Amino acid sequence: MRLKDKVAVITGAGRGIGRAAALELAREGAKIVVSDLFQETIDGVVAEIKALGQQAIGIRADVSQGSEVERAADQALKQWGRVDILANIAGIYPPVPLVEMKAEQWDKVLDVNLKGTFLWTKAVLPPMIAQKGGSIVNIASIDGAVLGQPTGSPELPHYAAAKAGVLGFTRAAAMELAQHQIRVNAIAPGSIETEGTKALAEGLGASEEMIAEGMKAFAETVPLKRFGQPIDIAKTVLFLASDDSSYITGQLIIVDGGFCLQ
Ligand code: NAP
Repeated sequence: MRLKDKVAVITGAGRGIGRAAALELAREGAKIVVSDLFQETIDGVVAEIKALGQQAIGIRADVSQGSEVERAADQALKQWGRVDILANIAGIYPPVPLVEMKAEQWDKVLDVNLKGTFLWTKAVLPPMIAQKGGSIVNIASIDGAVLGQPTGSPELPHYAAAKAGVLGFTRAAAMELAQHQIRVNAIAPGSIETEGTKALAEGLGASEEMIAEGMKAFAETVPLKRFGQPIDIAKTVLFLASDDSSYITGQLIIVDGGFCLQ
């Protein structure tokens, strides 16, 4: 077990990529703090982890609210006395045409995707600095965070800006925190099949049938000829969280089936 005795906080862990990461890290022996917005989904993932014979607690916290994040980090620390891994996975990507976008819509996406990453990172620094080590894994995206790639998803300029910010934050934080043996890395997923991507397609006006057909057509444009699955990202989170990546910091790993090669 690669993460025996480690404590991992996973945000956005109620579903999608976050849930897959929580289960994957638990399978490797980590004690998991399942954090998300809704108690029901949190409880479901905690139960799944316990069914694996591993330990988990659920903490409801909105990543964009500093006081909620601080309270959640305190609770995690009280439970297990340490935090070794933080995976900043909570994110939103509601499509809005740029010409119609209100400042509040822009702010909300920046607050959850970017400020949330900052707030949680800050909240786990005291225990990580005291422990003289830790691993922080941030989820960026091929939207915004990979230069020179051909996707610029329509109606997501706020999201692209936030994810570009996540990459900049990752690199700067890695540089500053290396003195404490805290590593900070990012992952840029391509298109991953989750509840979130289904909601995105629906938000762009697609029917169930259109979504199924669109996914099939999209898969053909990916060199590896398939949509990504949450487990593809969860395995990369595990790599960056574990000592297998102990000499890697400030890096971005693109997990997109080769999409950005084109
Ligand atoms: P998802 O299925 O929508 O899951 C995201 C989770 O984050 C949900 O449980 C959501 O709760 C939670 N969340 C949203 N706002 C939150 C907040 N303010 N505080 C705490 N939790 C919050 O999304 P996903 O597709 O798994 O994406 C996960 C991450 O990967 C995101 O950062 C996303 O930007 C990134 N990403 C995804 C893809 C992809 O293709 N799926 C590609 C590139 C990057 P609710 O259920 O209440 O909304």
